[in-house]
Amino acid sequence: MAAPYVKLNNGLRIPALGLGTYQANLAGECAKVVKNAIDVGYRHFDCAFIYGNEKEIGEAFQEKLKDGTVKREELYITTKLWNNCHRPDRVVDACKKSLNNFGLSYVDLYLIHWPCGYDSQEGDDIFPSKFTLSSYSFVDTWKEMEKCVKLGLTKSIGISNFNHEQIERLLKHAEIKPVVNQIEVHPNLNQKKLIAFCKERNIEIVAYSPFGAPSRPWAKPNDPVVRLDDPTFVNIGKKYGKTSAQVILRYLVDIGTIPIPKSTNKERLKLNIDIFDFKLTPDEIAIIDKYDCNGRICSAEEMKNHPEYPFNLEY
Ligand code: NDP
Repeated sequence: MAAPYVKLNNGLRIPALGLGTYQANLAGECAKVVKNAIDVGYRHFDCAFIYGNEKEIGEAFQEKLKDGTVKREELYITTKLWNNCHRPDRVVDACKKSLNNFGLSYVDLYLIHWPCGYDSQEGDDIFPSKFTLSSYSFVDTWKEMEKCVKLGLTKSIGISNFNHEQIERLLKHAEIKPVVNQIEVHPNLNQKKLIAFCKERNIEIVAYSPFGAPSRPWAKPNDPVVRLDDPTFVNIGKKYGKTSAQVILRYLVDIGTIPIPKSTNKERLKLNIDIFDFKLTPDEIAIIDKYDCNGRICSAEEMKNHPEYPFNLEY
């Protein structure tokens, strides 16, 4: 099964579903997972410097390129600038470091991972226990992201975890528009307002944690949960011969997003991309819309005091 494509505001295209690669326990097995994913039809891979597995993922790409399973131009590879590299003179080097990890000459999409920069001058401490708030504006960081495009290090650039006010501010100064905003989207947090805001500006939405990241290490007992055994999802799935997880992914596609589910299991990898032969009705979408409860699970508490913390606004 292959995913269809979504056209971006710069004329390039991105597969309508990708593989998420964040998960500590992916280490050691992630090359196998990425190779399995390529074999079952995935072409879009969501990576990040901070996930610590770019090298291993790169080895999987190299193997699949070498054995002729895929050509480089068929792969869509995203990675992200970490918060400690917002200082303008660090951005291009950070992008080159990721490319070096992958063993690639370009990525397809380079994202500013968070609007919150850390002021770690030497920047090797990627999770500083105490960080000073960055004095570098993401607008200045963006100028260097644009340089990455001009240098041919990435085909497109985008943002992640930006709220609408931050996007507005960025657009005022951007010479190259972001092609996507990657944000948390699932039934408990359907992000309808931010999606509409971005769509009006021709910015696509990549939906992270589509199942509500059930295995995240920072889960708290009272956090809202996306329940795959919920009878509503199960019953909608029965109508189409699909699982609850497939119904949720299809919902995310039908509300206009590009989901990037993570799975290390080959059967679930297959199921997760097998969602392009059905479509939910407006009534089914409306039923799932009702699950929205502002149930954010990736609230990045450690950034709460940052002036650019994105989640103090409604959207
Ligand atoms: P997801 O919501 O994708 O959930 C992953 C979990 O769901 C895993 O435990 C997986 O288990 C399980 N799962 C996957 N498929 C199925 C299925 N068909 N049925 C039942 N269970 C399933 O969590 P993530 O947080 O990993 O989000 C996806 C990706 O989004 C990340 O990997 C990362 O690439 C990106 N992301 C980006 C962020 C950002 O700030 N920009 C923040 C967070 C995530 P198993 O592996 O055993 O199948």
